[in-house]
Amino acid sequence: MKIVSIKVHDIRFPTSLENLGTDAVHTDCDYSSSYVEIFTEDPDLKGIGLTFTIGKGNDLCVECVDYFKPIVINKTISEIENSMDSIWRQCTNHSQLRWIGPEKGVVHLAVAALFNGLWDLICKFHKKPLWKYIIELESNSLLDKLSFSYIDDAISKSEAFDILEKKKQNLTKSQETIINHGFPCYTTAAGWLGYSDEKMTKLVKNALQKGWTHFKMKVGQDIDHDIKRLELVRNLIGPENVLMIDANQVWSVNESIDCINKLKMFDLYFVEEPTSPDDILGYKKIKDAIPDVNLATGEVCQNRVMFKQFLENRSLDFCQIDSCRMASLNEIIPVMILASKLNIPIIPHAGGIGLCEYVQHLNIINNLIITNNGIHLSEYAESCSEHLENPAIINRGRYTTPLKAGYSAVIKKESLATYVFPSGSYWKSVL
Ligand SMILES: [Mg+2]
Repeated sequence: MKIVSIKVHDIRFPTSLENLGTDAVHTDCDYSSSYVEIFTEDPDLKGIGLTFTIGKGNDLCVECVDYFKPIVINKTISEIENSMDSIWRQCTNHSQLRWIGPEKGVVHLAVAALFNGLWDLICKFHKKPLWKYIIELESNSLLDKLSFSYIDDAISKSEAFDILEKKKQNLTKSQETIINHGFPCYTTAAGWLGYSDEKMTKLVKNALQKGWTHFKMKVGQDIDHDIKRLELVRNLIGPENVLMIDANQVWSVNESIDCINKLKMFDLYFVEEPTSPDDILGYKKIKDAIPDVNLATGEVCQNRVMFKQFLENRSLDFCQIDSCRMASLNEIIPVMILASKLNIPIIPHAGGIGLCEYVQHLNIINNLIITNNGIHLSEYAESCSEHLENPAIINRGRYTTPLKAGYSAVIKKESLATYVFPSGSYWKSVL
């Protein structure tokens, strides 16, 4: 079964109109997707992949995916499956495009979109949800598809093999548990920074009624305002529920120490992205200065090499992998295996469009065949789910296990037609 063509679309939803996704640095997000359709000889078999952006620049990702098409078109699905790592390296290590990366920024987001689509295609071909396809692969066959380049000083393939094999001993029982009970998550949807106190109060109360127990709030615009908001939320959720905050990179290292010291009285489960996402040593300085507060980061950590340093340096307490920032499972699974070796919990970043649908699979894979860490948690932020064919389903603060074939992030046909930029009917009416 051959891949015959690939189409890439610039899809943008006008979410800035409702202040969705607003935080200390991203104040007008239009949730967007570089959306890849991979067509095969069978008109009923199509791979769908995406990466997430927040508006302008989505066109750059779309164009970048175009450069990778010749590497993939005319290959059969089994060729892709059997030479996954080599094809991935041809993209991540492209002799010209690597100059505007390498393995970071627009180019890496584009590789993520393409490979999310290739994994989706392979799983649809085998008629399995992605998590099930991965856990049923022989360990060696899975490891051959992944990239350990630049991180094999921290985690070798043979160590990875041992971690997978050991964990798989309880697979039958743990699979039953995850299918029956789902995977726990926290909500970010009540705490966007652009929301008024009234709106936030209403959303927190609704979430409590729906059974949510873990809440994350955005901070970082003004410390007095942050204190007032956290006071309000802590009073609403009571001492028994879990509260965390996210500063979205807004503070310097010294400001982080100062602000976290002022906010930690609210019993915070973690503080997310206090400072520059590249400052591995700065995070360690913050941790050393405030050892009683946990730090979380990773949603813009660009690749496995950065994660290796964060993890080995113990610069974070919770590792927040992102399904579209890193270049798909090819390097996400190696990072999860390294985190398992170091006993650091994975709490994936999600929200946007398609990210919740992707991480629900990654959580299950990590839970079933990789980690032995006792902390199980993931992010959820309901947004744009009305545009997805099979959005992630949450039941009393837990992701329901997806059972349909593929990697789950498929945008509805009518939404594509309405929100394709700039020719969709919505954009034509406002531009
Ligand atoms: Mg965040």
